[in-house]
Order: sequence, then C-alpha cells, then structure tokens
Amino acid sequence: MKKHNFNAGPSILPREAIEKSAEAILDFNGIGLSILEISHRSKEFDAVNLETLAMFKELLDIPEGYKVVFIGGGASTQFFTVPYNLLQTKAAYLVTGAWSKKAVKEAKYFGDVQVVASSEDKNFTYIPRGYQIPTDADYFHITTNNTIFGTEIRQDLDSPVPLVADMSSDIFSRPMDVSKYGLIYGGAQKNLAPAGLTFVIVKEDLLGKVDRPLPSMVDYRTHIKSDSMYNTPPVFAIFTALQTLKWLKNLGGLKVIEKMNLEKSKLLYGEIDRNRLFVATVPVPEDRSIMNVCFVMKEEYKELEKEFLTYATEQGMVGIKGHRDVGGFRASLYNAMPLESVQALVNCMQKFEANH
Ligand SMILES: *Cc1c(COP(=O)(O)O)cnc(C)c1O
Repeated sequence: MKKHNFNAGPSILPREAIEKSAEAILDFNGIGLSILEISHRSKEFDAVNLETLAMFKELLDIPEGYKVVFIGGGASTQFFTVPYNLLQTKAAYLVTGAWSKKAVKEAKYFGDVQVVASSEDKNFTYIPRGYQIPTDADYFHITTNNTIFGTEIRQDLDSPVPLVADMSSDIFSRPMDVSKYGLIYGGAQKNLAPAGLTFVIVKEDLLGKVDRPLPSMVDYRTHIKSDSMYNTPPVFAIFTALQTLKWLKNLGGLKVIEKMNLEKSKLLYGEIDRNRLFVATVPVPEDRSIMNVCFVMKEEYKELEKEFLTYATEQGMVGIKGHRDVGGFRASLYNAMPLESVQALVNCMQKFEANH
C-alpha cells in the first residue's frame, strides 16, 4: 500500500533527492567510491559543498553582507551558540512553544533574557501580538514555525534590534526578505535533508562584538573563513540538501513552493473546519502553520481519537499522531509532501465522519 508520510522530523524528502543520494552511496560522481568513504576535502566534495552554499544564496535571495555556515549539532546547539556570539548584556525572546523555551533557557547562561511575550497561557495555540521589543537588547529571537504546536509567523517582522530566527521547520517554504534578519538558523532535517546538518545565515557585521572569548567551534567566523570546512562537515547530509535544493529550483523556486504549500494546508484546514468530528487546535487562521497542521477530535467525540488513528494508519497515513504536549493529530506538510497525500488524509477524515 502507498504510504503517506506526515512525519514531523526527520521527514519527507523529494523522491528525486533520495534516489540521487542512494546512487551516490553506491558510486559518487562515477569515481568508483561511495560518498560515505571519501575525504570532505576531496575536490569532488568541495564542489558539492560550494554549490550547496551557493544554492542557499540563490534560492533565498540572500543579500550581500550575509554568510551561510553549515555545521553539526542541530538547532539545539544554536540555542547557546547564538547568545555566545551575540549576547553582550541583554536579549529579547518571543516564547511561542517548546523550542523557544529551550532557546531562552540556554541564552540565560550568557546574560539577561527578557521574554517580551509568551503564548504559554493557552498552550501555545496562538502567536502573541502587540508586544514591545526593548531597543537596548542585543537581538530579538523568534521561532518562525512552531513544529509541535502548529503556529507560524509567516511575515518577516520589523524589529528595532537584529532579528534572530529559528527556522528549522519552515526554511525554504516561502519567499522571505533575509535583509530583515540578523541571523537565521535551523536543523535541516525537517524540510531539506537527513539529520546531521545545521545551517546558519548570519549578517557578518554583527559578529565580533561580544567581550567574551569564543572557542573556535562556536565562533561563526571560524566557519565563515573556511567555507564550513574548519572541521569535518556532515558530508552526506550536505549532498542530499543539494539534491533537495536542485529539485526546488527546477520546480520554480520559493514562489512556486509557497503556492503549493498554501494549497495543501488550505485543503486540510478546510476539511478540519468543515468536518463535524474534528477541530483545529489553533483557532486564528493567520496563526496557523502551513507546515504542521494540528487538530484534535471535538470534546464530544474525544473517545474516537484512537479509532481514527488506527483507521488512518490502515489507510497508509504515517506519522499523524500529535505530539504528547498537544494530543490528537499532527500532519506535517513539508515541501516534498504531494497534494495527493493531503487529499488521501482528507478522504480518510470524510469516510470516518460518514461512519460515525
Ligand atoms: C526540530 C526543531 C528543533 C530542534 O532541532 P535539533 O536539530 O533536533 O536540535 C528546534 N527548533 C525547531 C523549530 C524545530 O522544529
């Protein structure tokens, strides 16, 4: 049976990127060796690395003055690497979910952290508005897409201080204005590549301003200077990222993928809102994530949740169980997810409704 992959992360990748990666594991570039067993400093991999860096710049339309860094450690390592490099006295944070809470916790090791607003009072089911960003903060940190709770900040915010964004789960999902950000980071395993690769896009003139000494590996300048080759980068994940980006470019780039992502999420939210059994956990449409759609059974049908999960699983749906902090269901609709899979889930919901 066809599987419909709604996993939250690691998650669905374009079939083409997986096939090209499988080929490269057997014979990379016709050199008679696997991508898994060659030097990261070989001329063949060096070309892949530089092309991937260039594709980031091209697809995201990254302006002059910004650098892209590939590194290991996951977004979680960036929770402390960002303040290590940028927090001199005080930083401001918007708390919209479990990942921003973790980012706040790590930043506190480096200086004052001011939480400007939080949506924890309603279990992170909305995006706070109308808060003040302190103008004496070294930066303002947001999580653009809250993978667990299904909310998203889809406009590029104005900030009086450098804007720092964790974009682990919505990078490359829409066109964006990079010039509005001081730094963007994320783990690549949601929308781009297998686990192991972390990306950082940083405005170079923000660096070198803190007084504390920086160990080489946490200093972004180390990686900028060496084109992310200071130590061994996640070679295979970078290779797959390049295949995903080539796929995205061939498709038409970020404008095209945004249109497709909007269409997919509209289809699913439309069904959730229409269906008598289900309700979206995020009530305000502008706050709803187009990447991770969270929904539960209405109070009066709560006892049917297990049955629906079993039924949907039997129909080939994979990874739709909600995160334990939310319950119910979460369907992740990353770039590589085809509209047909979303339609298959919608069909399941309609059949289930008809039977109850
Ligand atoms: C998955 C995720 C993380 C954690 O990423 P790791 O690479 O596992 O450290 C952080 N932030 C967001 C928004 C995520 O979705």
